[in-house]
Amino acid sequence: MKRILIIEDEESIAELERDYLEINGFYVEIESRGDSGIKRALHGDYDLVILDIMLPGMNGFEVCRLLRTKKDIPVLLVSAKKEDIDKIRGLGLGADDYITKPFSPGELVARVKAHLSRYERLTESAEPKRDDLKIRGLVIDTNARRVYVNGKEVTFTAKEYALLFFLASNPDRVFSKDELFEKVWGLDSMGDLATLTVHIRKIREKIETDPANPQYIKTIWGVGYRFES
Ligand code: CA
Repeated sequence: MKRILIIEDEESIAELERDYLEINGFYVEIESRGDSGIKRALHGDYDLVILDIMLPGMNGFEVCRLLRTKKDIPVLLVSAKKEDIDKIRGLGLGADDYITKPFSPGELVARVKAHLSRYERLTESAEPKRDDLKIRGLVIDTNARRVYVNGKEVTFTAKEYALLFFLASNPDRVFSKDELFEKVWGLDSMGDLATLTVHIRKIREKIETDPANPQYIKTIWGVGYRFES
């Protein structure tokens, strides 16, 4: 799932952008100030930034300039003024594109998609990317090792992730507790099967709407567990 940061102080615009991007399958976060926005853009893991120009704390030109010293992800500048566009061109800020307010959400989404695919072509590495695992409302981004439940990111410990990833990669097969323990903790690891049970419970609490009546990881009594595709 591609991650987008919107830095925009007009809440209604930021929310409109977010809604359209989410409908189109993007994960979106919003910052309403330039100074906090640049911090998040630099420290976070985003695939693209949508950046307003008139912002409290630090204007979009400065945010863009600072971001460019550290990252080469696509930046889409948003401006309400014709003069800004001339300035963007003149300053050579390294913004990949700009869009003027008011714009249609469809246009924004199209621009975002175009920039992401262009950037992907430029940065394609030799290592093939694996596909996300998508099971109903659950999305496992197997490259970034991130998990989303109904569009919201949920954090997992390394072992919880390993267990969930193994089960989701092998759906509709029953695994005994011994098999799962061996797969995730390894043969020589100290520990007992109760650890596995605890991890299954924690995963269910994170991914299931009703953990007592799980839809993803089913208990097969007397045998083990099965992940339902
Ligand atoms: Ca603004």
